[in-house]
Amino acid sequence: MALGEFDLIARYFTRPVRHAVLGVGDDCALLQPAPGMQLAISSDMLVEGRHFVTTVPPQRLGHKALAVNLSDLAACGARPLAFTLALAMPRVDEAFLSGFAQGLYALADAHDIELVGGDTTSGPLTICITVFGEVPPGEALRRDGARAGNDLWVSHPPGGGIGDARLALEALRGQVTLAGEGFEQARQAMELPQPRVALGRALRGIATSAIDLSDGLVGDLGHVLQRSGVGATLELGALPCSALLAAQPLALRRECLLAGGDDYELLFTARDAAAVQAAARAAGVGVARIGGIDAQPGLRLVDEAGQLLPTPPRGFDHFAA
Ligand code: ADP
Ligand code: MG
Repeated sequence: MALGEFDLIARYFTRPVRHAVLGVGDDCALLQPAPGMQLAISSDMLVEGRHFVTTVPPQRLGHKALAVNLSDLAACGARPLAFTLALAMPRVDEAFLSGFAQGLYALADAHDIELVGGDTTSGPLTICITVFGEVPPGEALRRDGARAGNDLWVSHPPGGGIGDARLALEALRGQVTLAGEGFEQARQAMELPQPRVALGRALRGIATSAIDLSDGLVGDLGHVLQRSGVGATLELGALPCSALLAAQPLALRRECLLAGGDDYELLFTARDAAAVQAAARAAGVGVARIGGIDAQPGLRLVDEAGQLLPTPPRGFDHFAA
C-alpha cells in the first residue's frame, strides 16, 4: 500500500531539530532568532516542466530547490537559519522522495540549517521552499543602493563563468550539441548551483547593492538600476566565461552570458575593489569586475573592442509574450 501523507512526512521530512525550538510535527515551527537580529525571508517555487525537466535526478532537484532559495539569502547578506517545504506531487513515489530528501538535506547540512515544517498535497509536481535567515539591522544588501562611480561585479565558480546553465538548456532543447564531458559540466551548472552564502555575508558593509542572478544578467541588472535610479556600462569582454562556453559561437555565447538565467551568482556594486577581492578570497569564490555604475540612466553594453553595442536582450519574464 502506498505511503500516506503523514507517514511520508515522518519518513522523509522529519529530523530532530538542533537550532529551532520546535520543528516538524506541530501546527507551527518555533524559531529563536538571535536578539536584535532582523529576519530575512524568501520563497521560491519550482514547477515541473517550467523550472526543471522531468529527467532531472531527484537528488539534484532537492539540491536545486533549496539552492535557489539560499541564493536569495546570499544576495541579502543574510545567515540562513531554517526553511519550510511545501510539496505537491501527483502520486507517492518513494524512489523520488528518498532521492529528493537526500539532495535537500545534503545542502541543508552544508549550510547548517534545518527543515522545520511545510505542507504536502497531491497535484502537479511543484516544490515551494521558504527560507528564513538573519541579518544585523541595517546591514542587509539591497537592490537600491547602487551609486554612480561604483564598480559592477559578478561572482563565478573558481576557473569558471556564468552562462553555462543556459548552455545546458540549449543543449537539452537540441539547439547546440555538446560532447559528453562538456554536457555534464553544463548540466551540473544548471542542476547543482552553489548558492554564494559565504560571499554574501562577507560583502556586508562592502557591497552597496546586490542581487542574485536567476533570470539573466541583463534583466537582473535592470532591477538594480531601476531600484537604485542609476545606469550602467557593462563590458562584454570582462564577463567571466568558462572554457566550454568560450568555445561556442559568438551569438550563442553572448546570449548565454547576457540573458542566461539560472546562474545563481551574485551581481553587486561596490566602491572598494580591494575589499571585494578580499571578501571573495575569504569565501573561496571568483569575482570579476564587469563594468561600472553611471548617473545616466539605461544600460550601455561595450564589446571586447570598446565598441558600443545595440540594446541588449531583456531578462526572463514568465508572463512576457
Ligand atoms: P496542519 O494541518 O496543521 O497545517 P499538516 O497536517 O499539513 O499540518 O502537517 C503536519 C506537520 O508536518 C506540520 O508540522 C507541518 O509543518 C509538517 N509538514 C507537512 N508537510 C511537510 C513537508 N513537506 N516538509 C516538512 N514538514 C512538513
Ligand atoms: Mg497543512
